[in-house]
Amino acid sequence: MFNDPVDSIPSVGEKTKEQLALLNISKVGDLLFHFPFRYDFFELKPLKEINHEEVATIQGEIVSEPSVSYFGRKKSRLTCTVQVGVVAIKAIFFNQAFLKDKLKRGESVTLTGKWDMHRLQLTVQQLHPKSFQEDQTIQPVYHTRANLSTKQIKKLVSYSIKSSLEEIVEMLPEKYLTDYKLPNRQQAIKSLHQPSSKTVLKHARRRFIFEELFIFQLKMQWIKAHNKKKSEGISKTFDQEKIKAFISRLSFDLTDSQKRVLEEILDDLRSQAHMNRLLQGDVGSGKTVVAAIALYATHLAGQQGALMVPTEILAEQHEQSLKELFGELLNIELLTGSIKGKKREEKLERIEKGEVDLVVGTHALIQEDTVFNDIGLVIVDEQHRFGVEQRKTLRDKGIHPDVLFMTATPIPRTLSITSFGDMDVSIIDEMPKGRKAIDTFWVKENMLDRVHQFIISEVQNGHQAYVICPLIEESDKLDIQNAVDVYEQLQSVLPQDIQVGLMHGRLSSQEKDDVMRDYADNEIQVLVSTTVVEVGVNVPNATIMVIYDAERFGLAQLHQLRGRVGRGQDQSYCILLADPKGDTGKERMRVMTETNDGFTLSEHDLQIRGPGDFFGKKQSGLPEFKVANIVDDYRALEVARRDAVQVMRENLLETDPEYVKLREMIESDPKIQERIFD
Ligand code: ADP
Ligand code: MG
Repeated sequence: MFNDPVDSIPSVGEKTKEQLALLNISKVGDLLFHFPFRYDFFELKPLKEINHEEVATIQGEIVSEPSVSYFGRKKSRLTCTVQVGVVAIKAIFFNQAFLKDKLKRGESVTLTGKWDMHRLQLTVQQLHPKSFQEDQTIQPVYHTRANLSTKQIKKLVSYSIKSSLEEIVEMLPEKYLTDYKLPNRQQAIKSLHQPSSKTVLKHARRRFIFEELFIFQLKMQWIKAHNKKKSEGISKTFDQEKIKAFISRLSFDLTDSQKRVLEEILDDLRSQAHMNRLLQGDVGSGKTVVAAIALYATHLAGQQGALMVPTEILAEQHEQSLKELFGELLNIELLTGSIKGKKREEKLERIEKGEVDLVVGTHALIQEDTVFNDIGLVIVDEQHRFGVEQRKTLRDKGIHPDVLFMTATPIPRTLSITSFGDMDVSIIDEMPKGRKAIDTFWVKENMLDRVHQFIISEVQNGHQAYVICPLIEESDKLDIQNAVDVYEQLQSVLPQDIQVGLMHGRLSSQEKDDVMRDYADNEIQVLVSTTVVEVGVNVPNATIMVIYDAERFGLAQLHQLRGRVGRGQDQSYCILLADPKGDTGKERMRVMTETNDGFTLSEHDLQIRGPGDFFGKKQSGLPEFKVANIVDDYRALEVARRDAVQVMRENLLETDPEYVKLREMIESDPKIQERIFD
């Protein structure tokens, strides 16, 4: 029975039970959901259809006595001739001399191995049992751990199928099974473990891919709907004309993208529901001015706003540029960790009294002792760990502002609708007019002298340069050493009057800020840094970005780094020092030199590195699917999302008995509860 403990299976003792526990299998029924992670296909093929060096399975008759030769100390080579159709081929087994007695002249054999079509020989990887039948051509392979073989797992699974498969109930409404021609849950589970054909397997996989993605999307939509419902009564009213006037006073026209996302954001502010929106836009696409207008609208509605950024230096930069932008219109205060003592208390008091309209600061802003008078909008800039924690802090303080997250990392749509499926997403997908594209070059390290010359000539023209050394994953120490080496090398090759600065993760945040400030003030012309270079820092005078060992970075990251230059009027350059060994590495460098578009690059990155690596493992917030893969199953993901949106729109979870199982499942998921605001 499904709920019986695994050791109720006759062959399972204490040891096996422990091994199974490692795989999170404690009940007999759990085995049903321990799906194979891949399948071996031993499809019999005629010789003439097998390509050179292809791994294939053949059947034939042994027509010679097997012979063994030994070489080295433990190495052996066993060969025999096998008649396959009209051709006699040689089968070779390395280091499996013990098979000699099993290979009897005149008997038939089934072999899987690598085919050498010129020598007519097969290097055998697997000798199949005599009983090999056509219907055994698909072999499931399970993730095994410690002392459980695929064979053992197969047996246990087979027991579980016999004893508890019947207890499995369908959870998808009939409609989806019919519309998408999916097998039911019982059939699909059985077929994943014991596929009778490739087609059957394909449909079983399709069913689970849909189930997983659909349930996931339903959860996202459910969270979204509940959060909207729970936050009624905070709509803002503001004078549209004043906003128009403000926009017309800007020194540039907003791009169409900026206008569109601004409307989406202002609609959220006007609406009764909570804003929970992600604003994506490539570096330099002009997110800040959009944020500023939203903050202005909040002020016009009589509430306070906060802009949070990851570092102090960024906070200062934003305070500066917002003060220039707003002039007398808004009272702006900076609040960072290094503002202490009396000054801090005064600021806090003014914020609490409502004398401050807009607070700019680091993320600590909301975590600490700040009490707002009436906060209406919080904007979180350049934040990759998308604010679940910040939101919780706000919630714990009893504050429910509208929240806008901004990111310059273009997120491929697949990830965007999985990782942030419970948020609304706005995208700025064009650059302000007249922006010069950054010229990107890919060179090898033997060109270093010329790179140095290039840096010198740009600096002599009054510009600045970044030089990035990669993170060496295994060792913080090596990492810094690497940066120190480059720093010293540059100091020795560059003329005395060029100041070189050094930045790395071991510096205190005070030291980092000091270095960045010197760089921003052009006291330092060349900044050598590990990848800690603060995202979003604006030094428009910097025109060169040199990246060492560029092949070690993801495309999205290279693009982020490149976005540090090209922020002023002058032509900027990005130089990738890289000597990638493989084709994908070369391809990636080539893509970098060919496009400046962050979304194109991020799609490439996702294809090449997979979803887990895209944000860095810990930050992905991606669910773990057993069968589905959001990159390969992108179309299914879109379908599942569309269906989930429809279910919520028609309120089927609450009203249609066919959806009861799904609703129970969603409601009992503790992770979902965490993401609901109270
Ligand atoms: P990011 O999206 O990277 O935060 P910013 O908001 O810092 O980009 O904008 C980069 C620069 O472009 C700023 O100097 C800003 O004033 C300018 N900018 C923003 N929007 C426009 C526009 N529509 N036309 C011209 N320049 C713009
Ligand atoms: Mg910005």
